[in-house]
Amino acid sequence: MTIPPPIAMLAELTHRCPLACAYCSNPLELLVAKTELGTDIWTRVFREAAALGILQVHLSGGEPASRRDLEQLTAAASEAGLYTNLITSGIGLTRARLEALMAAGLDHVQLSLQGTTAKVADFIGGYKGGFDRKMAVAADIDALGIPLTLNAVMHRTNIADLPATFDMALTLNARRIEVACVQFQGWALKNRSALQPTRDQVETAKRVVAEATERLRGRLVIDFVPPDYYADYPKACMGGWGSTGLNVAPDGRVLPCHAAETIPHLTFPNVLDTGLAEIWNDSQAFNAFRGTAWLPDACRSCSRVTRDFGGCRCQAMALAGDPFAMDPVCKHSPHRAKVDALLAEDAPDGWTYRRMAAARP
Ligand code: SF4
Ligand code: SF4
Repeated sequence: MTIPPPIAMLAELTHRCPLACAYCSNPLELLVAKTELGTDIWTRVFREAAALGILQVHLSGGEPASRRDLEQLTAAASEAGLYTNLITSGIGLTRARLEALMAAGLDHVQLSLQGTTAKVADFIGGYKGGFDRKMAVAADIDALGIPLTLNAVMHRTNIADLPATFDMALTLNARRIEVACVQFQGWALKNRSALQPTRDQVETAKRVVAEATERLRGRLVIDFVPPDYYADYPKACMGGWGSTGLNVAPDGRVLPCHAAETIPHLTFPNVLDTGLAEIWNDSQAFNAFRGTAWLPDACRSCSRVTRDFGGCRCQAMALAGDPFAMDPVCKHSPHRAKVDALLAEDAPDGWTYRRMAAARP
């Protein structure tokens, strides 16, 4: 069977980050700096990605600006023919660095937004002074004319600030904003009950998004990702396992999605010893859940199967303890009661910030 090439690669250049967001999608066991791939290996990987047919690379982390060679990495990706998108908190960027990144071929920036005021943003990001520095970086991005998308993760503490979030996107001259309700992976899963919005909050948010989408049409593109747990059916996670994208972790392991290492029976090949094309086409991890033949009978006979592919494998693992199960969010799942029980949980007062203290060597 010929496997179509992926469209995008998430290059997780580092797990280092000055911020400590409690919803970070990075794994609980973060990788330390000395495990990170060097400039030369990334350069080879970008060339292999382009040869495989990948069109765009998301330079991500952690905070990619924590890498001193970010400019060289951007140039390498651009020279390989990839569209380069920098996903950043802004911390570690300066006007001079942004100019150097532009000269290196940077095409686009996605700037994360933890909140719309310094008080809220610095509390959520666990980093005092972060908001003011981010605003200065956003002004530089605008002045330099780099296309900007804002990424705002919405959760119980900040979802009421959606109107102010859209106002901020206009103020910063962003062309697009992604407002994604928190997805429960990595640190967000650990902090689930503190972050889970209430049903009323979600219904209000949907109305606010619908009104803003209409009002701002032609000025701002709004992409809204509603929360999974209140839905009747799951999302088509990653557009189907091993079908549209791949993640390269800071140490070179290649994952079908950033939470895939929570599935114990998968083994992840590494770019240090295997080519990207071989990993994509032939590896156990990428073929484990391709197509629909492995799904339970109830999914294979369901009319939605070509839309959601049975939902998210990592969510099935996390909630049902079985990566082959129907996504427990689905109303037909025998595990749906577990999701409803989680929605009924009380929210604790605090959360656990993402910290390198849990780092693996
Ligand atoms: S979510 Fe927060 S802590 Fe995680 S990489 Fe992004 S800015 Fe850093
Ligand atoms: S039964 Fe399976 S395919 Fe049908 S909606 Fe539920 S998860 Fe999707």
